[in-house]
Amino acid sequence: MMVYTTAMITAMLAAAFVWSSVNLDSVLASRDDSFLDREMREFADIVKDSPAEYAQGALRTELRHEVAANASRGLFIVIRRVGQIEVYPESELARGIAQSLAGLQLGPVPQTVHLSSPAGGVRVAREVLRLPEDGDWTIEMGFPANAESTTVSSFNRRLAGGGALFLVIAVLGGSLLTRQAMRPVAAAVQSAASLNPDDLAARLPRTGAADELDLLAATINDLLERLARNHEQITRFTADASHELRAPLAAIRASVDVALQQPRSAGDYHEILATLGEQCQRLTDLVNRLLFLARADAGQIALVREPVDLSLLVQEAVETYRPLADEKRLHIECSVEGSIACAGDRMRLLQLVTNLLDNAIKFTGADGTIRLALEASEKTATLIVNDTGIGIAPGRLPHIFERFYQVDESRSIGGGGLGLSICRWVAAAHAGTIEATSEPGRGTCFRVVLPRL
Ligand code: ADP
Repeated sequence: MMVYTTAMITAMLAAAFVWSSVNLDSVLASRDDSFLDREMREFADIVKDSPAEYAQGALRTELRHEVAANASRGLFIVIRRVGQIEVYPESELARGIAQSLAGLQLGPVPQTVHLSSPAGGVRVAREVLRLPEDGDWTIEMGFPANAESTTVSSFNRRLAGGGALFLVIAVLGGSLLTRQAMRPVAAAVQSAASLNPDDLAARLPRTGAADELDLLAATINDLLERLARNHEQITRFTADASHELRAPLAAIRASVDVALQQPRSAGDYHEILATLGEQCQRLTDLVNRLLFLARADAGQIALVREPVDLSLLVQEAVETYRPLADEKRLHIECSVEGSIACAGDRMRLLQLVTNLLDNAIKFTGADGTIRLALEASEKTATLIVNDTGIGIAPGRLPHIFERFYQVDESRSIGGGGLGLSICRWVAAAHAGTIEATSEPGRGTCFRVVLPRL
């Protein structure tokens, strides 16, 4: 991180350095060139105005004066008249430059020429004035080119020094700021690392700043909350399942103990084995229901989606349960509209109907009536299972679809309180609903609504 930041700042500084240096160079060059151009115009005007006066001395004196004044500002000017040097700064260097320039091709646009030492590079322009009465006048004007490059180099040196200082400050300041900004992240990482899988009640501290970090802590806390709830559900499921399995196992154990207490006749053994067989069957049903819910939770139950004739399915369930109902002297009335179909899993839907029918038979006393109705509206099919049984107290009714919930454990035979949980799961898996209404002592009514095909 630090390396990347340093590399990036260095690259930015280098780009700024090159850009400034190149621009300064070109700005200085164009400024100097326009200065040369201006001065050249002024001198040309002086010469053009009164060339005839030159011989009389006044113009010559004025030009000498101007050339000397400009020489002290670093500008050298050479004026030739018909090829002869007339005016030039009176120094050895200027004379050398003037002589060197004589043979060069120059024009009014400034250019840099390289003369032999000590003059070196010179930025120079030449203007030729053709005056009809006085012949050709030539004005050469320039200055040492190293003046500009000295300014640029000095600027570059200062810029490099300043840049290095800026780089150090930026890197140090940046690392300080980064460390400061990362402090809450480090604290969050530390808190997250100290979370213990056995203590799902622990939560990450919130900064309260409502920034991204605070949001991250809130999201992780939310996840922990759901994990804790899930964990609690699994623990409760395991405890309830163990509790439900204990009762039938204890009954089997008791039957075996009674059988072994003394020698018995073949008839007695037959009876005891039949009881054991029934208890094993109940145990098997319970284990199957537990397995079903565990697999449903894990998303492992794949529903078959096919057209199911609900009318036939309900009638089939009624016929299966009629002998049991007859045995308990219960009347089953069935009012089913024909050809009501839905898309779903036939086995699961049959399980839903038989669970409701089974409960109705279980919780309705002799001479009671169980009424089944299947009705259709435009988009839905509604199954109603109504009984005249013991009913459910209003305080208990909201809980009957919960797992392992039994209104009265002593009266519930072997179901383990899982039947209605399975019904609700099947209805929901078919995008349907299930609800119950009840009046204690008068009966209960279950209503299942499923989407029609
Ligand atoms: P179980 O499989 O033990 O019957 P269910 O989940 O099917 O459990 O039902 C939960 C509880 O709802 C039962 O223990 C029972 O008390 C009550 N219940 C369900 N159906 C009826 C009904 N038709 N009449 C009265 N009570 C019922």
